[in-house]
Amino acid sequence: MTDKVVTKNKVISIAYTLRLSSGDLIDESTAEEPLLYLHGAGNIVPGLEKELEGAGVGAKVSAVVSPDEGYGQRIGDPQEVPRSAFPEGAELQEGMAVVAEDEQGQQIPLFITSLTEETVTVDPNHPLAGETLHFEVTIVETRDATLEEIAHGHPHGPGGHHH
Ligand code: ZN
Repeated sequence: MTDKVVTKNKVISIAYTLRLSSGDLIDESTAEEPLLYLHGAGNIVPGLEKELEGAGVGAKVSAVVSPDEGYGQRIGDPQEVPRSAFPEGAELQEGMAVVAEDEQGQQIPLFITSLTEETVTVDPNHPLAGETLHFEVTIVETRDATLEEIAHGHPHGPGGHHH
């Protein structure tokens, strides 16, 4: 037995593919350039985090994650808003996430789906909302997270955050 298993407060390196039910490849990483995440910190969707819990180095995990445990169900429709609704000089790009505040001061993530000179179309849905996610994951490495990583809620160093 090895103690190198996926558990809370470990930095996990994974090689993976993410496909939709249609078979479309959305994202991937390789053993040479793995994705790093901090387990238990919500860096990855809850359904995948749950499936990887307890897996050892070298383990291959197939996970089918429902929208509820992935990027959520679709909520509401895209809306066109004037560019003036954004701070002057804000660099807006398609696919970018921005945060809006509602009247109660609650923060709402919005995703920019298209832009014109005058308007910005924002969608309350993550681009993968409503999708069932099909992951094929290999656990490449695990290590203990540093206290700083745990405080920040993400991994540092190669493959992690640089700041
Ligand atoms: Zn950090």
